Amino acid sequence: MLQIRFDNTYARDMEGLYVPWQGIKAPAPEMILLNRALAEELGLDPDALQSPQGLAMLTGSDMPEGAHPLAMAYAGHQFGGFSPQLGDGRALLVGEVIDRHGTRRDIHLKGSGRTPFSRGGDGKAALGPVLREYIVGEAMHALGVPTTRALAAVATGDTVYRETPLPGAVLARVAASHLRVGSFQFLLARGDHARLRRLADYAIDRHYPDLAGRDGRYLGLLQAVADRQAALVAQWMALGFVHGVMNTDNCTISGETIDYGPCAFIDGYDPQAVFSSVDHGGRYAYGNQPLLIQWNLARLAETLLPLIAPDNPEEALPDARAVIDGVPLRYAETRRARFGAKLGIAAPGQRDEALIDGYLALLAEVRADFTQSFRALTPAASGDDSALRAHLGAAKGLDDWLAQWRGRIGTGSAMVMGAANPVYIPRNHLVEGALADAHDGNLETTRRLLDALSRPYTEREGREPYAGPAPSDFGPYVTFCGT
Ligand code: AMP
Ligand code: MG
Repeated sequence: MLQIRFDNTYARDMEGLYVPWQGIKAPAPEMILLNRALAEELGLDPDALQSPQGLAMLTGSDMPEGAHPLAMAYAGHQFGGFSPQLGDGRALLVGEVIDRHGTRRDIHLKGSGRTPFSRGGDGKAALGPVLREYIVGEAMHALGVPTTRALAAVATGDTVYRETPLPGAVLARVAASHLRVGSFQFLLARGDHARLRRLADYAIDRHYPDLAGRDGRYLGLLQAVADRQAALVAQWMALGFVHGVMNTDNCTISGETIDYGPCAFIDGYDPQAVFSSVDHGGRYAYGNQPLLIQWNLARLAETLLPLIAPDNPEEALPDARAVIDGVPLRYAETRRARFGAKLGIAAPGQRDEALIDGYLALLAEVRADFTQSFRALTPAASGDDSALRAHLGAAKGLDDWLAQWRGRIGTGSAMVMGAANPVYIPRNHLVEGALADAHDGNLETTRRLLDALSRPYTEREGREPYAGPAPSDFGPYVTFCGT
């Protein structure tokens, strides 16, 4: 029996920001992947999730008691252009549960059919993108990055038409919430300041409860979101992660990474790396992400002005601007900490910036494999620089840099580096290989990949194929938004 103790605050408190809605019936639902550990963390019975009732919930076909399925309304800037109404065009918020740690979590479906927000879309998701989000999201979690999680991937038995007919699937994902910068923009665009205030207070209660009821809480909310997002992007950068579609509707208030679409990890280091087929201008290139998060946070700031200074929103500008102007500094601090750790420096100071930038310049010069080059620093710290030279031997200035670095690092550096430089990341060719096999009905490749990615910082015997860069015939990697 599927029994879930839902407690749906969004449905209760955020009327006007959603439409109650049902999914379509999946013709032949079949469990593809179930995240049993996450189910248990949520207090859900994994076996019940696999029952016909469980599959009905996980595809949106039929809901258990206590669920309050709804499509969320939100707006957003997509590649810089504003859409006052986006919303869940193929997603449903099933409801909220309190997990084993006492944290409220959303259970949410992607690919459950059309909604009033679908515009021209079919409301569906294909198996490949569903598995991609599952794999990359779970990898990010294991890497220590705040992220939505994957609870299950269920094949619907339906056919989804993209360039070709594809098997349909639904991703059930879990998030601290699905509040986005775009949720605030939706209400600002309608001039609905009363609901905007309710949303801000709701977000504060849910994610920043220390601010609740305090004077100055809306400016505090802006600062808190800015801090989390700056820290999040610093983590992305330290892992070579390119989100690919940093639109304001994909920018959470919780500070979790959300919506793994045309995302990718860098192999050879290139600050301008872009993978998405639709990102022609390189707006969301690897090296632009810190700038773009500031831009997105400025959009959030605009929505909070009427709450910070209700009588005259313009009066809120100096304070709000100070927060936004401070984003680069916040980013620089967390970036220094993250990259310092990657070099084995536990408490890096400003003078270590030159060492960090110097190493990245070496990587860029020869497009060295980002992940492996950092990992190769661990043996190099204790005198064995053969792996490092294999990657960076051709880079001018390597010896000078090595001398400076060796003069800087201390005895604990190997441990610091080991915890900051992963061995296994969801490399593009591995993800593509897993998706291709899954398309042919073989899920073993995906399962083995998920296993390798579940402990990314620990080198394990037999997992060597998961550590290396793409084979030379893999070619340039392009990801598609046609998710
Ligand atoms: P995403 O790129 O997944 O963040 O989606 C951007 C917007 O497009 C959101 O409002 C989605 O709900 C909507 N969307 C994406 N794919 C579809 C689809 N197949 N059918 C309907 N809406 C979609
Ligand atoms: Mg999105």
